[in-house]
Amino acid sequence: MIKDAKYFKEKLLAEKATLEEDLIDVARENPDQPGDWEAIPNEHDTAAFEENTAGDAVDGYETNNAVVNTLEPRLRDINAALERIEKGTYGACEICGEEIDKDRLEANPAATTCKDHMK
Ligand SMILES: [Zn+2]
Repeated sequence: MIKDAKYFKEKLLAEKATLEEDLIDVARENPDQPGDWEAIPNEHDTAAFEENTAGDAVDGYETNNAVVNTLEPRLRDINAALERIEKGTYGACEICGEEIDKDRLEANPAATTCKDHMK
């Protein structure tokens, strides 16, 4: 495991907290499946729904759903990276096992591959 794992753990935890704050505005976590977020219609659009048409509420839900679809996979990557820190395998490329460059981890602490194997 790389020496700076603790430093990257702080970064991962900070990003996780930000993501969860953003998710809480647009989704609720499935109590049966932690880590699984479901979009909710936002309050603003629910109010609009009462005054206007069903269309507005559906739009609000779809917007939230799009946000969830962006944030949830990122949160999953971050949780996976935190798990690798716990297991002591953080910072190794999942394809070749080589250490991932620091600057790559700096740009994306949840990176799972080295520069040669990035998607
Ligand atoms: Zn590699």
